[in-house]
Amino acid sequence: MKDPDWRADEETLDRIGRMPKVELHLHFEGAAPPSFIRGLAKEKKVDLSRIFRPDGSYDYRDFWHFLEVYEAATSVLKTPEDFARLCRAVLEESAANGVVYSETFLSPDFCGGGDVSAWKDYLLAIRETAEEAERDLGITLRGIVTAIRHFGPDKARQTALCAAETAGDWLTGFGLAGDEKKGKQRDFTWAFDCAREAGLRLTSHAGEWNGPQEVREAVEDLGVERIGHGVRAWGDRAVVDMLAEREIVLEVCPGSNVFLGVFPSLAAHPIAKLRKAGVKVTVSTDDPPFFHTTMRREFEDLAKTFHWDEEVFDELNRTALDAAFCDAATRDAVLKRLEPK
Ligand SMILES: [Zn+2]
Repeated sequence: MKDPDWRADEETLDRIGRMPKVELHLHFEGAAPPSFIRGLAKEKKVDLSRIFRPDGSYDYRDFWHFLEVYEAATSVLKTPEDFARLCRAVLEESAANGVVYSETFLSPDFCGGGDVSAWKDYLLAIRETAEEAERDLGITLRGIVTAIRHFGPDKARQTALCAAETAGDWLTGFGLAGDEKKGKQRDFTWAFDCAREAGLRLTSHAGEWNGPQEVREAVEDLGVERIGHGVRAWGDRAVVDMLAEREIVLEVCPGSNVFLGVFPSLAAHPIAKLRKAGVKVTVSTDDPPFFHTTMRREFEDLAKTFHWDEEVFDELNRTALDAAFCDAATRDAVLKRLEPK
């Protein structure tokens, strides 16, 4: 048992920040560096000045306005080539922050408007760029097709069909994201059943804005093995115990939650309590430039706030890698990158 008064000194914090990291919850377009989007808008002569602050960062008021700004930013991403360039920009940023394995949410709604053959062209461009980045930067990427909740269940069916058509060793998962206040998890059972039958692994955003019941519904109605966020399960012991017993993995994004006001501060965030209660927690950034975060910053902030040492972060990385939607050979290769040199 570690001394409860243990605090990471500057040197330890720096070592923790530089550790290799596994990230499971990253929205592809939401990871777009603002400078990349500004450059693309300029090339395409699209005026996006309204979504940027004078310092060049994204500008929005709250979660719902964030969704609008997000859609405006992604509106300049049009062709497979644009998405390939985005892939390179995102992976360079992740690799610079020590990420060695990442899973990203992709939406066929943004890549070809939901048309299966167009989607295949986008996916190929993204995958080829990711494979090149794996060779140059030592970061492995896998894709999770994500239906957008506020676009409704009909659109989600189309999205699931796109996902099923392209399921394989690179496109390995299916999920649900977007505005949690619209509709119910069970409205999307057809889409999730379709994805499961295609061999895709399942995750759903739940318990970011809605309470513990939403988390229970994602597990029971959709049969997911991971939950995006899930942090508002805290507060209902029965739901917390259910998560622990079923070994459901939470893709926790502490910086995102604090930035959007889900919790008033990192100290008030339940990640440490969930971990203590036996829930499998992992750490991700969600939409890092929108929330002014990086994986390095997440690790450092958690170390400072909860006095976690390298052993804890090693455990978080291993939990994330165990829960990763990749094949065993990929997992083994990434595991080697986690081991101390
Ligand atoms: Zn998310």
